[in-house]
Amino acid sequence: MKKDIANKVFSSLLKLYPNPKTELKYINKFTFLISVVLSAQATDVSVNIATKKLFKIAKNPQQMIQVGELKLKKYIKTIGLYNSKAKNIILLSKILLDKYKGKIPTEFDELTSLPGVGNKTASVYQNTILKLPRIAVDTHVFRVSNRIGLVNRKTPDLTQQALEKTVPTKWLMSAHHLLILHGRRLCKSQKPLCDHCLIKNNCKFYRHLNI
Ligand code: SF4
Repeated sequence: MKKDIANKVFSSLLKLYPNPKTELKYINKFTFLISVVLSAQATDVSVNIATKKLFKIAKNPQQMIQVGELKLKKYIKTIGLYNSKAKNIILLSKILLDKYKGKIPTEFDELTSLPGVGNKTASVYQNTILKLPRIAVDTHVFRVSNRIGLVNRKTPDLTQQALEKTVPTKWLMSAHHLLILHGRRLCKSQKPLCDHCLIKNNCKFYRHLNI
């Protein structure tokens, strides 16, 4: 997509969502990383409900290890894949303590070497906490960016690479949240609400609907 059209798309998205930021609740870098790990294949709302009590007693790797895997499972059992997530979170906390003195590493490769932290989680962390221009691609970003025609790619990883090359610099910091919010509110998976969408005139999917 041409840069001037992409600029129009993101300007319209910013009008719709003037405060683009994560909907996950967290209190520090560690709790943000844990929330993102928990949010894989789960809604932010379900994660926030589970972490409200958990983060009162586990705000850092040491406290999380003290909670332990069994008790952690009880806190997060309403979230999908909670067994493997609990295992990963305890292991991740031990690695942070042993290898990084309890801090979260900043390099992408270091982040993705942690249990339960894949490309998407590492990119979300770098974008939200480290303020790096990363466009993490979840199911919403993948669907919305390809529907609009910002990119035309078959996988989330290829979509991320293409977005980070083509999205105009001024939108790199906010693109991830703007596209997620649009996917949740209007550009829904089954029935996108195109008639109410401010960017329909610049959307490839909408153009094809009306040919
Ligand atoms: S016009 Fe429809 S398909 Fe295009 S971005 Fe808007 S809601 Fe999504």
